[in-house]
Order: sequence, then structure tokens, then C-alpha cells
Amino acid sequence: MDYSNYQKSILSLVRPCIAALSPYTTARDDFKGKADIYLDANESPYANGCNRYPDPRQQKLKSLIGEKKGINPCNLFLGNGSDEAIDLLMRIFAEPGKHNVVAIVPSYGMYGVSAAVNNLEVRQVLLNDDFSLPVGRLLDTCDADTRIMFICSPNNPTGNAFARADISRLAADFNGILVVDEAYVDFSSVGSMKDCIGEYPNLVVLQTLSKAWGMAGLRIGLAIAVPEIIEIMSNVKYPYNISEAAMETAVEVLNKGISSQVEEIISQRDILARQLAECRCIRKVYPSDANFLLVKTGDADRLYAFLSQHGIIVRNRNSMSLCEGCLRITVGLPSENRTLIETIKRYDRQQ
Ligand SMILES: *Cc1c(COP(=O)(O)O)cnc(C)c1O
Repeated sequence: MDYSNYQKSILSLVRPCIAALSPYTTARDDFKGKADIYLDANESPYANGCNRYPDPRQQKLKSLIGEKKGINPCNLFLGNGSDEAIDLLMRIFAEPGKHNVVAIVPSYGMYGVSAAVNNLEVRQVLLNDDFSLPVGRLLDTCDADTRIMFICSPNNPTGNAFARADISRLAADFNGILVVDEAYVDFSSVGSMKDCIGEYPNLVVLQTLSKAWGMAGLRIGLAIAVPEIIEIMSNVKYPYNISEAAMETAVEVLNKGISSQVEEIISQRDILARQLAECRCIRKVYPSDANFLLVKTGDADRLYAFLSQHGIIVRNRNSMSLCEGCLRITVGLPSENRTLIETIKRYDRQQ
């Protein structure tokens, strides 16, 4: 493959108004050194821990995340949650009212919401009955105006990770941007596609600090891609999209680490899966590469209501295609999981 031509064709997918953009330059872009007196940004001079604008390039946090995850900072974009990256990619690559995006179903709801906000047609492609990736149907659904395809792996809410070979084939054969949302990758043995961005420059991998890293409240999402894409995302984002408070807390939590939390959640997930399978009202526990379990029940609405009456909230996915009768249950603390099982057994006895 002529790599340089391939890079050029990625850039040719960028909307003309974005390609022509002269990005906002902040005071901190004009002067990057260290000084004694800052009179350049119209900030308050009274120190209180947050009177200065944050680093718009997020260099300290990027290099720490890069170090922890083995990503070169030039391949890393940080957003106000993954949701910012999803919206930005649409705004960069897809012309409202003209282009379309393709997404799998059932999957994460934000692809459709962001597409609607950006006035983009979403072409939804149902997963195969065994929740595997319908590679042929996905490619057949694309036309010359399809700019982005969204694949979530491990997928929410089905819980399974897709075969790497299937994702690679999509990256190779799709002539637009392939977004692989890996919010749950830390719980999966299948591994990240992030090491394939050199091979497939149209690949954008999304990860997040919200799940395994325990920072959902901070709102920090990652996009991993070739530097050309990262650069455009950085030019289009709000200059100060991540607050100083969020960056400082993230650095603290990343340095503290999450020790054995992921292993514990995985072992709790497997225990929970066995115990759920023993409950009479549960017809099927789907295999999971994530920190949640999708279960098929006899009557999802009824079990959902019973659990919520007993103070336990799960996610009712009954109305999603291929998820009829299904609840999605996040793996909690061991004590929480025990209470869940006891409560479902109480439900079983009342039926
Ligand atoms: C939870 C989740 C995210 C995370 O979104 P953030 O905005 O980073 O919190 C992304 N994608 C999927 C599929 C998720 O389930």
C-alpha cells in the first residue's frame, strides 16, 4: 500500500470548512514558556487553585495516559468524555444533510443521538443472531456518502467483543472512518485495536477513563488515531475542553492506580454469571467481555420492577432489537452482587 496516498485520502474526507479552518489560538499557544508574571489571558490575578486557564494541549495528562496505556501522545486526543470525540468526528468528516453514518444495532445510543444532532442519516445494521459482526452487510450498507462507521467492541449492551479479523476487514474495505469504541476494553481478553492505526490510518479507537479507571464523574474520553486525524480533532475542539480540576484529579487517580480492581470485577462477573444462570427467571446469561452481563429473562419489565422496588436498579434493554426480554446488569461490589442474587431468588420464589 502507498501509505502517503492513503493519508491523503483520509484528509480528503474532511469537510472543506474544517480543512480551511484557522483554529483559535489561545494566550498559552502564543507563549508556551514559564514566566513570573502572566498578564496575557485576562485571568484574575488572585490565586485560588483555579484562576488560571488550563493547558489546552493537556500535555501532562496526555503523557501520563500515554505512559500507562502505551500510546504516543501524538496519537492521542482527549475529550470531555468519549461522547465529545463521537460528535467531533461527525462534525469533521460528515456534511450535515448530505453524508451518512453506519452503526451496528443493538449498540450504544450516542452514535444515533450525535448523528441526529448533526443532521446525518444513520444506517443501522442489525448484528447477526449470535451477536457477531455482519461484515458483509455492514459493507453493503455503505455508499459513496458514508463517512463514518461505528463499531463498539466489547459491545454495549450485548457484552461481546468482536473478532479482530472482522474489524480489520472493515478497516481495510471501508472507504471512510472506522470508529471502534473500546469503552470496555480493559475487561476483555481480545485486546485493543489501537496498535492497528499504523496499518489502517482510517481507524479511530475510542477509550475512556469512565469505566475500568473509575473516573466517570470527571468526563475524560480518549481517541487514538494517526497524527493527521488527532491534529484536526484538536483544532476543532473547544480550546479548554477539559478543566484543570478534572486533569489534576485524573493525574492523581492514574498515579494511585486501580491495583486489582479490574481482575476483581472480572472474577465477580464470572461468579455472578454462574449464579444468575441458576435463577429460574433467567433464561440465558450471555458471555461478557465487559463489566456487565446481559441476561434474557422470562419477563424483563416485571423483574426490573421487582428489583427497583427492592432498591436495585439495572438497565432494562427489553425494547432493543435482539434484546427482547433482556436486562443489562453492571457488576458491582461483592456485597452488592450477593444482594442482587438474593433478591432475584426471592422473585423466583414468588412466581
Ligand atoms: C460508557 C460508554 C462510553 C463512555 O463514554 P464517556 O463519555 O467517555 O463516559 C463510551 N462508549 C460506550 C459504548 C459506553 O458504554
